[in-house]
Amino acid sequence: MKLRAALYPGSFDPLTLGHLDIILRAAQIFETLIVAVADNEAKQPLFTVGERMEMVEEAVQDSPGIVVRRLDGLLVDFARQEGVMVVVRGLRAISDFEFEFQMALMNRRLEPHLETIFLTPQEDYTFVSSRIVKEVARLGGEVGHFVPPRVVARLQEKYHSSKGA
Ligand code: ADP
Repeated sequence: MKLRAALYPGSFDPLTLGHLDIILRAAQIFETLIVAVADNEAKQPLFTVGERMEMVEEAVQDSPGIVVRRLDGLLVDFARQEGVMVVVRGLRAISDFEFEFQMALMNRRLEPHLETIFLTPQEDYTFVSSRIVKEVARLGGEVGHFVPPRVVARLQEKYHSSKGA
């Protein structure tokens, strides 16, 4: 039996196979998983929030129970609005722990009913991050092992075609 619903918030700039691994694991546990793509301009993302949402949608189109939404403000406000009190985050390594721990406790302080749960990806993806993928792609390296095929194409367009320049 599955639990009702959870949120998986993040920047997804761009979606990696590590994110996708967490999404698919969470979708095994929850009937509905809302992937909440943060529209945080302060982070100066490479991809617009619309592009980042499309990349997630393209990757999960054959997986039922996963919906993609835009996250504008505070996560706790979004969670209340959606009536979902479980947040999923991914933990790759000890380096993620401190930030994730602070976020989880801050969110709990802001909304005591909100629980954060952590999932770990398949080992192969524990070193994959959006930041490093962008760096490798920018320098012309092969990123097909770390992101879905549509994301490879979009990175190529951003960095290496006159259209994306
Ligand atoms: P944020 O800007 O909120 O950190 P990210 O898109 O970088 O957004 O990450 C969203 C969540 O996914 C975070 O909990 C992060 O730790 C997790 N995550 C990122 N990359 C991976 C990966 N390769 N494997 C598992 N979890 C990951």
